[in-house]
Amino acid sequence: MQRKMDQTPFAFLSVLLFSSCLASPPNFVLLFADDLGFGDLGCYGHPSSLTPNLDRLAAEGLRFTDFYCTSPVCSPSRASLLTGRYQTRSGIYPGVLYPDSIGGLPLNETTIAEVLKPLGYVTAAVGKWHLGYGANGTYLPTRQGFDQYLGIPYSHDMGPCHNLTCFPPDVKCVGFCDIGTVTVPLMHNELITQQPVHFLDLERAYSDFATDFIAASAQKKQPFFLYYPTHHTHYPQYAGPETAYLSPRGRYGDALMEFDSTVGNILSTLEKTGQINNTLVFFTSDNGPELMRMSRGGNSGLLKCGKGTTYEGGMREPGIAFWPGTITPGVTHELASTLDILPTFAGLAGAKLPQVQLDGVDMTDILVKHGMSKRESMMFYPTDPSEKYSMFALRFGTYKAHFYTRGATHSGTTPDRDCDVFALLKTHNPPLIFDLDSDPSENYPLSLVGRPDLQSLLAKILKVKAQFEASMVFGESQIRRGADPALVPCCNPQCSPKPSCCQC
Ligand code: MG
Repeated sequence: MQRKMDQTPFAFLSVLLFSSCLASPPNFVLLFADDLGFGDLGCYGHPSSLTPNLDRLAAEGLRFTDFYCTSPVCSPSRASLLTGRYQTRSGIYPGVLYPDSIGGLPLNETTIAEVLKPLGYVTAAVGKWHLGYGANGTYLPTRQGFDQYLGIPYSHDMGPCHNLTCFPPDVKCVGFCDIGTVTVPLMHNELITQQPVHFLDLERAYSDFATDFIAASAQKKQPFFLYYPTHHTHYPQYAGPETAYLSPRGRYGDALMEFDSTVGNILSTLEKTGQINNTLVFFTSDNGPELMRMSRGGNSGLLKCGKGTTYEGGMREPGIAFWPGTITPGVTHELASTLDILPTFAGLAGAKLPQVQLDGVDMTDILVKHGMSKRESMMFYPTDPSEKYSMFALRFGTYKAHFYTRGATHSGTTPDRDCDVFALLKTHNPPLIFDLDSDPSENYPLSLVGRPDLQSLLAKILKVKAQFEASMVFGESQIRRGADPALVPCCNPQCSPKPSCCQC
């Protein structure tokens, strides 16, 4: 096994000393892309994406090659990011939340914002929430530890597309969105300030909100946590006049470029306010690319399939950590996950961990020393996890075992017939095993015949799986709580007929 746990007392002491040497608690900026794959950024090999600011984070920070989200779709992945727990524990499954969903991320789950608040952090979320709205805004960010919020509380295709026009304004976006529900709202804290939202101004509003928040926090000398889950790169793409039609990559490239410009604005604000050397900026994405959108749907690079599947293309993501003066530039091949962000931020801030079963581990050693990962395995749950099937796949060290495989609508249109919706559920017993170091594209399953070393590896994998499953208590599904049309966000709640009257 190449990647082993590093539990030496020296490692622990060095992290302790490092934490105590910090002049003041570090700030955190967490950038979370949407449906962006392993191959979508220039710094991960895309030949025509223009992402100079994200590329700067990678060039001057630490770039992960083996970084994973926990679900191949939006809401569950976000639940894990913010709680450090697999989505099966918090109940954010199967699938995703909708504007009329009754459920949301349970309020007794502890988010990163709630971990940091007791230490005096100011907190803000800007962008796509997608962890529930609920009756009277029960599940909005402002109820989950964030002091401020500006954004659309779910995916921006969850409303009629007619209000989403590309530049120039008379050109309609390609494709279809959800019909029969309200137009997409923009919320400030718990108030709807625009409905429908004006997409061509949206990135400017997000950028201004983010940079104002950083500047105000710096002026008050308060440590801050900014969470920016962007809408950009999720279908349907949009871009304002400053980036529309400028990317050689087309409309996906325009959207990515517009998001990247906000990353640049955030970095320059950190520099101007003197916070750049005391801020950890972390970038990753919620799930793999939506290949069914073809050239407008993102790219998983050399990885197999994309969104909706538990192949690498659905789950392995870019991961970049940037902290000038603290993180030495480079590349790490250590295994890490969105699950690890909560314990890492908590450790760096000196915050207490929530008293629950966490699935994340502190990755400070990887960040500050290019050290080894404390994580030896990663579980891959499908979009509809159940106790009957449990996980679909498990990564152990450099190996990955698939117990089940299945394609997905989201991953249709590629030449690989394993990816599309017609690739029905297949059980693999023994599991398909791949060595991801020599075969990251999962093309060549290893044969166990005459390989006692691999048989012994399989025995270890099955043991890790059984031990993990013994610890897994499925939370009540928040998505199976169902929907109530009266819950859709409407700026004029008493109006009629809905949803068409919800316009302000
Ligand atoms: Mg997504």
